[in-house]
Amino acid sequence: MDITVLRLGHRLPRDERITTHVALVARAFGATGIIYSGQQDSSLEKSVSSVANAWGGTFSISYEKNFISAIKRFKKNDFTIAHLTMYGMPLSEKMAEIRNGAKKNQKLLVIIGAERVPGEVYELADYNIAITSQPHSEVAALAIFLDRAMDGKELERGFDENFKGKIKLVPKEKGKEIKKTVS
Ligand code: SAM
Repeated sequence: MDITVLRLGHRLPRDERITTHVALVARAFGATGIIYSGQQDSSLEKSVSSVANAWGGTFSISYEKNFISAIKRFKKNDFTIAHLTMYGMPLSEKMAEIRNGAKKNQKLLVIIGAERVPGEVYELADYNIAITSQPHSEVAALAIFLDRAMDGKELERGFDENFKGKIKLVPKEKGKEIKKTVS
């Protein structure tokens, strides 16, 4: 499945860490890229690109000033649009429908906010989805959503030779081992 994450309202310096975490979760849990909006942040772009470069894969990060036209573009390109918000419908009620819809075209745009999300986003979204109807975090919401969208498959995915990472972890019961795959 082709999953892109759209992160709205990035604020400097307040969201430096959390948007980085959003991007790392998006990458590790199987999204192909992240687009962020709000304030442009070259150091965010550099740090996410350098993780992707070291650990492998083709994860992309890009900036989009006008997020409404970005959402419209994804809609036009047949992406199913899921906006994560505590005000939305419970994930468990909608996930089967989202997976079936997304499976048909295999394309999903997942939107998460930072500050107040404008009403137009709720209208443009095919689904407004709550991961519990309680306030928490975009990082947690995204992780749970991606896990359910991929039916847990991202946990088995492994970052194999095709990912062309420069380093790789060797899973261990105890201790740490990182292998360099290129010298
Ligand atoms: N007060 C903000 C609002 O009106 O949307 C929420 C701020 S919250 C820290 C930032 C983002 O986390 C939200 O825009 C949403 O994407 C996500 N989020 C937080 N709680 C959520 C929940 N229970 N379900 C789904 N997404 C949630």
